[in-house]
Amino acid sequence: MGWNDPHDHRVEVKGPADLERMRRAGSILRVLCDEVARRVQPGIPTEELDRVFARGVERFGAKSAFYGLYGFPGHICVSINEEVVHGIPSPKRFLQEGDIVSLDMGLVLDGFCSDTAISLPVGEVNEEKKRLLATARRALALGIQACRAGNRLGDVGAAIQQCAEAAGFTVVREYTGHGIGRALHEPPKAPNFGTLGKGPRLQAGWVLALEPMINAGTWRVETLDDQWTVVTQDRRPSAHFEHTVAITVNGAEVLT
Ligand code: MG
Repeated sequence: MGWNDPHDHRVEVKGPADLERMRRAGSILRVLCDEVARRVQPGIPTEELDRVFARGVERFGAKSAFYGLYGFPGHICVSINEEVVHGIPSPKRFLQEGDIVSLDMGLVLDGFCSDTAISLPVGEVNEEKKRLLATARRALALGIQACRAGNRLGDVGAAIQQCAEAAGFTVVREYTGHGIGRALHEPPKAPNFGTLGKGPRLQAGWVLALEPMINAGTWRVETLDDQWTVVTQDRRPSAHFEHTVAITVNGAEVLT
C-alpha cells in the first residue's frame, strides 16, 4: 500500500531482534504472495484472491496489515490495468485475458509488518503491457541495488525514475514507498523519483518498503468515486512492484 502522509518524522533504526522478526514476517508474506499469484487466471473474481490471502494469514497466525487500515475494506489490494493502487477486491470484478493485475499485500506478525506487491499478466497480454511489467520489475531491482548505507534516498528514487523514463514510461509522484516496522507506514517517505546525491543518508538498520508505480502514459493519477481506487488520468495501464528491504552493513537485504 502506498503512502501520501506529508508528515515525515524520525526514521527508526531496527536492531537485530527487530530485524529477525521482520525477516520472519517477510518470509511468510513471500509464501502467501506466491500462493495468491498462482490463482491469477482469466475468469476469477478478484475477491477470490482476497480470500486466499485472508485464509493464508490466519494459517500462519498473522493478520492482514491492510484490512481496516484507514478504513480499507479488503485484505489485499487488487488493481487492474489503469488502476495504479488500492483497488478493492470484489465478487463482481473478474480478471480477463489481456489484463495486467497488481496484487499488493501486507501482514503483521509478532508486532512487525511486511509489505510486498507484484504485477502479473492475465493470460496473453500485448507488447506494451509486457514491456511495462518488465520495466517496473527492473526499476524495483535497481532501486534495491541503490539501498546501501551511506547512499542518499535520492539515489534510490533516481535509479527507479531513470529506469522507467529510459523505457518511455513515467513514475507516479503522489504515492511513494515508506519506512516500515511496527507500523505499516513509517518515516521516511521513499519517492520513486529523485536526484542523485540528494536527500537523507541511508543508515544500516533502516527498513524501507520500495514500491515503484510505473505508468505507460501520464504520471498523473486520480481517485475513483469509491474513494480508494487510484487510476491513471489517461486510463493507460500501470504496473506496481514492491519489496520490504532492510539496509545492512553488507548492503540491501530483501525481506520479502
Ligand atoms: Mg507499501
